[in-house]
Amino acid sequence: MTVWDDLVGQEKVSAVLDAAARDADALVTAAAADEPPPTASKMTHAWLFTGPPGAGRNQAARAFAAALQCVSPDRALGGVPGCGFCDGCHTALLGTHADVTTVAAVGSEILVKDMRDTVRKSFTSPANGRWQIILVEDAERLNEKSANAVLKAVEEPASRTVWLLCAPSVEDVLPTIRSRCRHLTLRTPSVEAVADMLVRRDGIEPEVAASAARATQGHVDRARRLATDPAARERRAAVLKLPLRLDEVGACLRAAQELVDAAAEDARQLAEEMDGKETEELKAALGAAQGGRLPRGTAGVIKDLEDMQKRRRTRTQRDSLDVALGDLTAFYRDVLALQLGTRVAIANADAGEALERLARAGAPESTLRRIEAISACREALDRNVAPLLAVEAMTMALRAG
Ligand SMILES: [Zn+2]
Repeated sequence: MTVWDDLVGQEKVSAVLDAAARDADALVTAAAADEPPPTASKMTHAWLFTGPPGAGRNQAARAFAAALQCVSPDRALGGVPGCGFCDGCHTALLGTHADVTTVAAVGSEILVKDMRDTVRKSFTSPANGRWQIILVEDAERLNEKSANAVLKAVEEPASRTVWLLCAPSVEDVLPTIRSRCRHLTLRTPSVEAVADMLVRRDGIEPEVAASAARATQGHVDRARRLATDPAARERRAAVLKLPLRLDEVGACLRAAQELVDAAAEDARQLAEEMDGKETEELKAALGAAQGGRLPRGTAGVIKDLEDMQKRRRTRTQRDSLDVALGDLTAFYRDVLALQLGTRVAIANADAGEALERLARAGAPESTLRRIEAISACREALDRNVAPLLAVEAMTMALRAG
């Protein structure tokens, strides 16, 4: 077992990262022994991971971070860095390693004030003497200011700093940043590879694994969630029943409201789990624990936290809606496949009857039009259009006839 085992269907990327991690390890070992660094090295200080949603770009970056921080004694015996078990690997994978800083967007943008401390840290030496790693999970959400802050840091990195940027595609990242990065592309893993991983790693029954992998079309996290979480299966089943219900305007508006409410409920649950605890922790850290009163000048810090929580709620709601829209898209793609009589594997075999009915009821052109209406809704949500408005426009366009 190594950290690369969890990267499903990404053999090429794993091989590149593995080679870089070995050379990085050789660099650290040489420096510790006061020897000159090895001349040829596959290690570099900035990496860009791109690939479709669900292919595992964040996981790939995190596995690499773990391999760079690996302190397994086996390395001295010819073992490969990235054992997955030593303290370095373990804490890097968990996200608690002192020298691995993760930046994830909580709203639609990563703000410059959220990058400031991270950029500052990137110029310091790692606490454990290996690598100072900055992992930006949603580099496409860097806005102009925060991207410029990152650019400065990537242009003149400290000798042991490694930037790992993740984004859907290279076009999502400032050209000046991406030209300084080594670029790795992840591909959508095959349905078989995802099913195999669910059986092997999560101990899921082969039949359940195969159906979850097919339904999510190579999206590893969603496949795992679907295979292990009954609530996720219920949610998906409800979404797949929607198309048949959309026969008149009232039904379309009701369906839109239900989709938006379900997503808002997801966001509310997450907020309930996290917000209060975070606020209490911050207040305690600010010294309110003693007197019950906050020291002067701390209102701004609390306001910042509340702003972040608000942006996170909005983002969770949007992400949750996006899952539902993905399920709907897959559903209409299946309808289209039936209408065209192509022999591609049907993703939603469990909704067979509904698929057949809609396939008979319309022409491929109208199915295509519906798939486009779902994309338009996703784009509107990306542009911060009010969710209910965007989803209503979509359900009206999905109406049969
Ligand atoms: Zn390790």
